[in-house]
Amino acid sequence: MKVFKFGGASVKTAKAVRNVKTILSQSGQEQLFVVISAMGKTTNAMEGIVKALYDKNYTIFDRLVKDRKEFHLEIMLDLFEDQNHSIFNEVNDIFENLLALKSQRLVENYNFQYDQIVSLGEILSTKIIAAYLSICDENVAWMDARTFIRTDDHYRQAEVDWVKTQELLDFELASNNARILITQGFLGHTKEGFTTTLGREGSDFTAGIIAYCTNAESVTIWKDVPGMLNADPKWFENTVKLDKISFKEAIELAYYGASVIHPKTIKPLQNKNIPLLIKSFLDPNSEGSIIQDSTEHDDLIPSFIFKINQVLLSITPKDFSFVVEENLSDIIKKLALSGGHINVMQNSAVSFSVCLDIDNFGLNRLVGMLQDEYEVRYNNNLELVTIRHYDQATIDRVTHGREILMEQKTRQTVRIVMRNLE
Ligand code: ASP
Repeated sequence: MKVFKFGGASVKTAKAVRNVKTILSQSGQEQLFVVISAMGKTTNAMEGIVKALYDKNYTIFDRLVKDRKEFHLEIMLDLFEDQNHSIFNEVNDIFENLLALKSQRLVENYNFQYDQIVSLGEILSTKIIAAYLSICDENVAWMDARTFIRTDDHYRQAEVDWVKTQELLDFELASNNARILITQGFLGHTKEGFTTTLGREGSDFTAGIIAYCTNAESVTIWKDVPGMLNADPKWFENTVKLDKISFKEAIELAYYGASVIHPKTIKPLQNKNIPLLIKSFLDPNSEGSIIQDSTEHDDLIPSFIFKINQVLLSITPKDFSFVVEENLSDIIKKLALSGGHINVMQNSAVSFSVCLDIDNFGLNRLVGMLQDEYEVRYNNNLELVTIRHYDQATIDRVTHGREILMEQKTRQTVRIVMRNLE
C-alpha cells in the first residue's frame, strides 16, 4: 500500500477536489491510504469558532459558522449534481450540532472542546471527498481516524500510543479492502473515545503514523510547490528544488523551521525506511523530491531557513558568578515555564544568551522570574537564519545590510541572529 497526504490547499475548491480525484484515479491499481486535511483555511476558521463560543460572542460565532457552512456548501453544489445526495444532510447535521453548542453548558477544559470542534474540519472534508469519489465510481471507503489513532488525553498536542494504534489499525484493515481508503489527518482519540488533535499541521504526521503501522511502500505529500525547496520562496528568489535528501537532513531542516513537512513525520518513516516523496498537485507528473536513507546528496545545495520575530536575551548573574550547570538549569527551567521556544543558545563566563520564539506575555513573565538574581537584557524583532551546508558566499548573501548579533557555526550548519538595518 501507498500513503498519500493532501493538505488544505489541495482541496480548497471543487476544482481542486476534482484534481485530487484525477491524481487518485491515475495512481494505478495499488491500495491507497489517503490522508486529507480540512479544506482551505477551515482549521483557522474553526479555531475562531471555538474562541467566539468561549467568549460568548454569539454574533461572531453565528457568522463564522454560517461562513464555513456556505464555504462547504458551495464546493458540494459544484461537485454533486444530485442535491438529494445524503452528504447534504450529513454536512447540515454537523453544522446544526455546532450551532446547538450555544445552548449547552461549556466544559471548562478549553483544549478538550477545541479538539471536539476543530476536528470537524477534517471530518467535513473527508466525508465530502469520499462521497464525491464514490459517485465517480471509485472503490472508496471512508475511515474514521478517531477509531484507530489512539492517543493520550493531552488535547491539542496529543501523543500517539503506537502499540494500540497498530492493533486498532490492523483490526480496521482486516475488514476493509477498498482500493482507496480516505481518512482524516491530524485526529486521534483517547481510550475513553474523545477526539484529540496532534498539533497544528499534524496531518503529515498522520500519514507517517499510518505508513509506519501498515509498512507502506512510500508516502507522498502533495503540495503546491514542486518539492522540497532549499528556501521558502516567501523570503528568497531563485529557490532550488532538493531532488534527493536523507531522512537526517530532512529532520534537521524541519527542526530549524523549514515548513514543508511537519517535524514529527520523519521519525516513523526513517525507523522503517519508508521513502517520503514531496510532489506538486499542480504538476503531478513531475519528479518532486524524495527523502530517503542515503546521505549522499545532502551537501550538494545549501538550504536557508528564516525565522522572524526572534527575541535575543542575554542573562548575567548579578553577583558576577560563573554561568555553570546550577544556574543554567535554573534559567532553562524558567524558560520552559514561560512557554518560550529556544532556537539558539550560547554562553560565556558570566553571561548566557538565548534566541527565542516567545510572545510578549511570556517574555514579561520570564524577565519577572529572572530579574532578582540576574541582569536581563533583550532585543526583539530580530531574524534568525539557519544555513545548512554553508560557505562564506551564502553567509554574505543573507547578512548583507544586517547587523549580526550572534553567530554559531558547526561543520554543516551556521545560525545567525541579526537585525535588519533598513
Ligand atoms: N488542518 C490542520 C491544520 O491546519 C492539520 C493539517 O492540515 O495538517 O493545522
